[in-house]
Amino acid sequence: MDEMTDTMIDVSKTILNEYPLCNECLGRLFAWLATGTTNIQRGRSIKLVLLMIGDEFLRGGDRKKASEYLQILAGNGMMKSARRLAKDAGIPFELKETCHLCTKDDSVFERIPRITNEVDEILQDYEFDTFLVGSVPFPQLVERQDEICARYNLLNSEPLKSSFNREFGKKLFEKLKREVDFSKPEIVVIYDMLKDQISLQVNPLFIFGKYRKLERGIPQSRWDCGECKGKGCEECDGTGRRYLDSVSEYIGKPAVKIAHAARFKVHAAGREDIDALMLGDGRPFVLELSEPKKRKLNLEVLAHEINKEAYGKIEVHDLEFSERSRAQDLKKDASENIKEYVASISTEKEISEELLRIAEKRFKDIEIEQRTPNRVAHRRSDLVRVKHVYEIKLKRKEKLLLEGSFKVQGGTYIKELISGDEGRTKPSLTEVLETPCLCTELNVTAIYTGKPDHNA
Ligand SMILES: [Zn+2]
Ligand SMILES: [Zn+2]
Repeated sequence: MDEMTDTMIDVSKTILNEYPLCNECLGRLFAWLATGTTNIQRGRSIKLVLLMIGDEFLRGGDRKKASEYLQILAGNGMMKSARRLAKDAGIPFELKETCHLCTKDDSVFERIPRITNEVDEILQDYEFDTFLVGSVPFPQLVERQDEICARYNLLNSEPLKSSFNREFGKKLFEKLKREVDFSKPEIVVIYDMLKDQISLQVNPLFIFGKYRKLERGIPQSRWDCGECKGKGCEECDGTGRRYLDSVSEYIGKPAVKIAHAARFKVHAAGREDIDALMLGDGRPFVLELSEPKKRKLNLEVLAHEINKEAYGKIEVHDLEFSERSRAQDLKKDASENIKEYVASISTEKEISEELLRIAEKRFKDIEIEQRTPNRVAHRRSDLVRVKHVYEIKLKRKEKLLLEGSFKVQGGTYIKELISGDEGRTKPSLTEVLETPCLCTELNVTAIYTGKPDHNA
């Protein structure tokens, strides 16, 4: 015997008998059936078919059956043509105005024109090309739909939120005339149905560049006083700072002002010591500006502003718009980069030219082992890192003073490569030159980003 299965038309009639539903909400319960149409069209079509069946019964003289259909459609179906037909046929029905699945005080779908205007108003202050909408639906409406779907085993329904976001997004697109971007929108508009409130998630702006540090004694990032943690105390003369300035503040502060941003962060490819200069082509960084109101920045003007305010200390160049992934790559690749340094090295004993050449040969393309230096042990875990030294060139400047040029893998501690750090770095210049060596001045002269090409 054939099993009796209800079609979606039968199921719709049963559901409508129970709950008042607008076209959008009835259609949404079957949203994945038939493409190229809207939920409103789906709902309207189902109701129309039911009305035709009812009318057929009416014309065929089955008034009882006809009443059953017309009462449902004129009542919970909120269908004007059914009301007319029922009235003409003298069939009584109960008037309903409130859809069970989209209406609390008013229908959330009917709010769309109003909130579209509100969003447009709010966004007047922002520069952006792409956006996306999101929403927080009424929990109660979500529960109601889940309940109906479970009870009638509806497998093709669409969540309220998804349908609402699409309709809201369409209206906003028409109004704002900006692109909808699902993966990297510049602004996300979020509507909370319960609070009837719009909030914005303004995604950050990323700017790539390179900085040179021309003065010693400037840390890369803001360094607060260790005593008072930035509140200001005797130790720091009330400044709250261990160091008064930083590379990242010189870069970030003018940018925050120009972009009308809330905050900034500088992601750099490694960092030089506070007392080291960063020369040559500079160190790559990505500046992240949070919640910017302006995005179409003139980067030449920005570079000019930064360089003007940090005159003689910091200098940026090659600014270009970028994205988050580049900041992540910078950090990830930092230890893969090749870096070049020039250091002044004082030696306890005078060193012969011959020994200098021996040392150069000894450090040609080798791996060295560096246990976390004493001076950074408080902030880095104690372990032995293997680093590649490509080349060291040594020149005598004075009797007890050398100039060393280093080409090494990113993350190599140069000061310790020179001093040996009490045996924690092996081998070291102290060891190979057979006399205590000390780095008295250090400059970074080049950073090659990207994977090193060992054949080059
Ligand atoms: Zn509805
Ligand atoms: Zn302090």
